[in-house]
Amino acid sequence: MAAAVLAALGTMLTLVPLAAIAQIASDALAGVKSDVWRVLGVSLGAMFVGMALVFAGELLAHVADNSLTSDLRVAVAKRLSQVPLGWFVNRSSGEVKQAMQDDIATLHSLTAHFYTAVGRALGAIAISVVYLLALDWRMALITLLPFPGFFLFLKRAMKASGANMNEFVARLGRINSATVEFAGSMPVVKAFGDGGRAHAGFRDAVDAFAQAFTDFTRPLVISMAHAHALITPVTVLGVVLASGALFVGMAWTTSAQVLPFALVAPGICAPLLLLHTLLHDLQSAAGAAQRVIVLLDTPTLPQPAPALQQVPQCNRVRFEQVSYGYAQEHAVIRDINMDLQPGTVTAIVGPSGAGKSTLARLLLRFFDPTQGRITLGGVDLRNMDSAVLYQRIGFVLQEVRLIHASVRENIALGRLNASQQDIEAAARASNIHERILALPRGYDSVVGEDAQLSGGERQRVSIARAVLLDPPVLVLDEATASADSENEVAIQEALSRFAQGRTLLVIAHRLDTVMHADQILVLESGVISEQGQHAELMAQDGLYARLWRMGGCAASSQKASTPC
Ligand code: ADP
Repeated sequence: MAAAVLAALGTMLTLVPLAAIAQIASDALAGVKSDVWRVLGVSLGAMFVGMALVFAGELLAHVADNSLTSDLRVAVAKRLSQVPLGWFVNRSSGEVKQAMQDDIATLHSLTAHFYTAVGRALGAIAISVVYLLALDWRMALITLLPFPGFFLFLKRAMKASGANMNEFVARLGRINSATVEFAGSMPVVKAFGDGGRAHAGFRDAVDAFAQAFTDFTRPLVISMAHAHALITPVTVLGVVLASGALFVGMAWTTSAQVLPFALVAPGICAPLLLLHTLLHDLQSAAGAAQRVIVLLDTPTLPQPAPALQQVPQCNRVRFEQVSYGYAQEHAVIRDINMDLQPGTVTAIVGPSGAGKSTLARLLLRFFDPTQGRITLGGVDLRNMDSAVLYQRIGFVLQEVRLIHASVRENIALGRLNASQQDIEAAARASNIHERILALPRGYDSVVGEDAQLSGGERQRVSIARAVLLDPPVLVLDEATASADSENEVAIQEALSRFAQGRTLLVIAHRLDTVMHADQILVLESGVISEQGQHAELMAQDGLYARLWRMGGCAASSQKASTPC
């Protein structure tokens, strides 16, 4: 606000020389001798003070903006470090980046430039209007007429486009989904050569969008063109000269009096257009502010007060009557009871969508159960510090997230002070050491830059990350067919070595893991329908036996046990 006022005052002062020129010229025309040096001195003085004020306004706005945006970034980062990991499951990194980076950058341009620009534009318009009114209010009223006319046409443009807006948005939605469909069907189209039909849907959507776009923009463009034509300096000058000629002709004013109008009135056009653009920007900034507010309001994962924090005594995991639903009303898993004894392997099998990944995510505290509780060493996960939890429970999931940093940093993500020796040992255990050495800068190669890793290799880096943490409990979402066979052998070898002696919860896709597991839980529509070892379940001849016969669930895992 202060910055805006400073900028407005400054701009007003910088316009003083214009009035001074008009004054000197009209005095000269009228044959009056004016004190040119004094007028010149005052106007130059006013201009410099004005520039200093505008500068002070800009400086103030930038300082305020700098502290605001850096505070916002820190607040958002702090918030994101406290939200449940599950929050990220439903969001792409693009969305998070949009809010953290792009939206805050939009707010930056608002705070740094908006207020001072509005101040300057308003200051220039206000001083010009007041000056002209003071000179000759009748003439001023006529010469200023194009400006309200601009807003009139603008309003018409908004109304005209508003009517077609819904149609435009609907068609835009259609073209978006048609594009996704089209891209998704590419492999099939290529394999079966039915290009025409796949293109047809997309082409229809494109044509419909083009039509909606024309309907939307035509009235808008026509009215906008009128509006802008009204406030070009030439139009305004034309109005000034025409009305000036009329006024002089009627002997209401002198030609010398018309001069300031010709000098000042066209100068209102630029700040007015600027004001219009700024108000438009304000709307998009409001959207950005809204998204940042939503982000800052994201519920965090409750952490126990330090006095209530407990440390698990052993590594036994228990699910007690656990239910969970992503949406309040619909439970995805219900009444789950399971006991993972230290050093044993528990495999979860079941059809796709049964809730297997949800169960694994609950143990990793991506979110908390809606009912029931999960304990590690007798302590409810909710009463445990997150750091303690992630020291004890490691995970290797299918969706591997590597960060834009060196391979070394990616492996040491959970133990930043790990020595190079430890990092290399973890990479060796994960069958990825040789591959890393083959990268252009070895362990210093940056993921996504000079470290271009395949899906299977990324998975092995994520295994090395878990190995380095050496957690007693491991949650493993077995890789499906995404890796090639060479990679798969390397991954399986690494995992089975790593799994030895740990409590393992495996979302099993492979027959051999399941066969050797200490217990198998068959999950069906969110409930455990069968439970036992391979032979027992086969004898029951239920869903497990059917899945097995279909070859639907198919890694070898070893086990060892320590009493809890
Ligand atoms: P599985 O791993 O057995 O294939 P999931 O645990 O992924 O099953 O999914 C169980 C159910 O929960 C499915 O109906 C799925 O649509 C739903 N679901 C999974 N993830 C989410 C999510 N992030 N938001 C909403 N629903 C989800």
